Amino acid sequence: MKYYDKLIFELSRPGRKGYELPADNYGHDSMAELPADLLRKEDLNLPEVTELDVVRHYTNLSNKNFGVDTGFYPLGSCTMKYNPKINEEVAAMPGFASLHPLQNPDTVQGALELYYNLQHALSSLSGLAEFTLNPYAGAHGELTGLMVMRRYHESRGDSKRTKVIVPDSAHGTNPASAMVAGLEVVEVKSRPNGSIDIEDLKPLLDDTIAGIMMTNPNTLGMFETEILDIAKLVHEAGGLLYYDGANFNPLLGRVRPGDMGFDIMHINLHKTFSTPHGGGGPGSGPVGVAEHLREFLPNPRVRKTDDGRFYVDFGKESLGSVSTFFGNFGVMMRAYAYILSLGKEGIRNVGPMATLNANYIKENLKDDYLLPIEGVCKHEFVFDGLKDKSTGVTTLNVAKRLLDYGFHAPTIYFPLLFHESMMIEPTETESIETLDEFIDVLHKVAKEARENPEAVKDAPLTTAVRHLDETGAAKKPILTYKALQAEA
Ligand SMILES: *Cc1c(COP(=O)(O)O)cnc(C)c1O
Repeated sequence: MKYYDKLIFELSRPGRKGYELPADNYGHDSMAELPADLLRKEDLNLPEVTELDVVRHYTNLSNKNFGVDTGFYPLGSCTMKYNPKINEEVAAMPGFASLHPLQNPDTVQGALELYYNLQHALSSLSGLAEFTLNPYAGAHGELTGLMVMRRYHESRGDSKRTKVIVPDSAHGTNPASAMVAGLEVVEVKSRPNGSIDIEDLKPLLDDTIAGIMMTNPNTLGMFETEILDIAKLVHEAGGLLYYDGANFNPLLGRVRPGDMGFDIMHINLHKTFSTPHGGGGPGSGPVGVAEHLREFLPNPRVRKTDDGRFYVDFGKESLGSVSTFFGNFGVMMRAYAYILSLGKEGIRNVGPMATLNANYIKENLKDDYLLPIEGVCKHEFVFDGLKDKSTGVTTLNVAKRLLDYGFHAPTIYFPLLFHESMMIEPTETESIETLDEFIDVLHKVAKEARENPEAVKDAPLTTAVRHLDETGAAKKPILTYKALQAEA
């Protein structure tokens, strides 16, 4: 172990210091100003280290992380595309970054204009009439969209509609959001290619259905060709169609959910529109609605007067507010910078390039990996593990072995339609050299699995930590040094 791989408490030496508390403006020791009963009686158990120790500790720790800026990150459904650094520069501009949400609208016209323009850009890309940018993430957008759905039915006195149909292949957040929104989840089966089974759908459509949640292309990356028929059936039954926009990347500038018949959708700005995500960082899940649902969108809203001024509005029929103020403004700035830098033509190339990359990987690996669904996929696809199952090497083993070769693993064991799912999404931002290297490595791992399966099962060999007890980490996390000592 390298010296600075030690825990910071192990680097600690009594009396070592990396800080000095400032005296206050009057030259007093700051501590002296605190009332005696608020003063700590015992010292806090903090590591005693120098500033240089702290810098090295955190820098070394950050180098153990894997990110899009470190290497290829084909995490299916998550759209881990490159985040251009110009986005960061824009988001850090002090004129925006130093704003306070309670400032008088007259003093923040530029920020309101950005919000307004981004709303309109999303409307023109999606074919939906109006967007709110307030929700904080995809799942939060789902909840907001489903609250719009409920408000719509309630406003018509249609209180029986309490069920929402969700395909068995859906992302876990879909049924979860439906539950949180107070709706009952009814599952509809997928056909083997992941598309919705219309015959299974028909009997579910009655006057208790509030709507259906779908994504297109579906979770297996296949385009739902019968979407217009599905939309017709759901609308005839009085329900609404919700589009989970996490799969919007392949459609950008080419196909619009609004034109497919969807009434409500969310977009993950932090996936499709390239802002850093993962690890719980800030996200943004704008929700768009068709004309007849506009009035139910959350407050506050940004509007424009005829003479070009922007103001903040609170609608009376609105479902209320879902966030403090306007949501994660920094993420919106990054997304807006990304849209403007690509421009209309650039945006139209995103989907085809992402689709080409996904099909290139799929076709080059299907000799060694089991492809359950043949045919052209969109921006992502799913393998059902290694073709040769006799070696006992699982999708988990392959995923861990990839880390040894410097690639992040794909999404594994999702969707639940297959036992050994590996969901691969390369995005449009990768070069052919990176894709070729990834394909070579996955072939190499398949060969290792045939020739020396035990070695693959032992992976990863080169990462900072090796075999993690993932269940233990989730059920009994050890988050402090004290807890670690108690464990030992
Ligand atoms: C990522 C994702 C979500 C949820 O988005 P969050 O921002 O993580 O809440 C929902 N549906 C699908 C298909 C996704 O890939």
